[in-house]
Amino acid sequence: MMTKQKKIFSTAKRIVIKVGSNVLTAEHGLNTDAIGIISQQISLLFERGIEIVMVSSGAMAAGCKKIGLAKRPADIPSRQAVAAVGQAGLILEYEKAFSKYNKKVAQILLTQSDLNHRERYLNARNTLNTLLSWSILPIINENDTVVTEEIKFGDNDNLSAMIALLMDANILINLTDIDGLYTKDPRTTPDAEMIKIIGNIDHKIKKMAGGIPGALGTGGMLSKIHAAEKVTAAGIPMVIANGKKPNTLNDLFSGKQSGTYFVANENKLSKRKCWIAFSRKPKGKIQVDDGAAQALLHNGKSLLPIGITAVEGSFMIGDCVELFSADGRKLAIGLVNYSAVDILKIMGHRSNQIEFVLGSKPYDEVIHRDNLAIRHEKEY
Ligand code: GLU
Repeated sequence: MMTKQKKIFSTAKRIVIKVGSNVLTAEHGLNTDAIGIISQQISLLFERGIEIVMVSSGAMAAGCKKIGLAKRPADIPSRQAVAAVGQAGLILEYEKAFSKYNKKVAQILLTQSDLNHRERYLNARNTLNTLLSWSILPIINENDTVVTEEIKFGDNDNLSAMIALLMDANILINLTDIDGLYTKDPRTTPDAEMIKIIGNIDHKIKKMAGGIPGALGTGGMLSKIHAAEKVTAAGIPMVIANGKKPNTLNDLFSGKQSGTYFVANENKLSKRKCWIAFSRKPKGKIQVDDGAAQALLHNGKSLLPIGITAVEGSFMIGDCVELFSADGRKLAIGLVNYSAVDILKIMGHRSNQIEFVLGSKPYDEVIHRDNLAIRHEKEY
């Protein structure tokens, strides 16, 4: 392990550990051996004074096995019912496993909309902080029984990234059933090589990850890479490592190399920009011309109506919208000052014509620079 990486592990005060369905489930139900291995290592870290928040998948996989289904049901109500069955068993196993080390656990079920609303966002953080101050381990999962597609985190890789941002974690550890990110799928390709450290998440990395699907959970490797993109942009490093091996966490915290390490950006986004870019679901898309793209990316400018060439979606003032270049590259995410309906009317016009077109001009900018998170190699 490199010196800087070692230092991050040896000085970490608060970490988020995500455990995937593939680690937690065996042929006939929950994998109690894996749960045992993880709880023993996490308890040791707690004894070292490190605060830990867990994000655990496995409810749906465990529920399927308990009910006797070979795979996840396709319809939403059945999936939600299966998750409800599985979640109970999952937490019960954690309770049993952690009680061996006199550790108490708490169950927290969240939805994306809990983090979209400032008040609930702060409530969730307060509860987590209180549990940690009592030295109790919070175990978070998505509240699968109530979410629908529109209000879903998508997968627990994304949820764990959101929690790492919410809690200002020093590291996010993503435990899965393979050793790290490989150049190809190691389960089917013998010459696949593991990548130990990634400094920049580029197209090549995403392409590699795209070819490595998950078996049981909803996210494959690519969703882990998306999670890494988010946390590293906020200055939090991430590790993908094998949660089935008995010493993965012990190794990492004693300075030994394990898994794939994603270096955090030094030039990190502010907390507010992270919230804009990652904690809210975009409600629409705006396409800009080359001049506007240049101004946004390189000259620190706001988005003006004159540079807009197309609008998609039905968003309102204050919603989160993605910006794209003419050739379809994602440039930024920001909060809009005008609704989609109004932007369609003012696009291509100079700001001094907004009042003439709309009858009033609350803002010159469609998105102010302060409300814009730029997808820059060093930024986001
Ligand atoms: N919340 C789901 C479960 O517990 C897991 C989602 C995922 O695999 O990412 O089954």
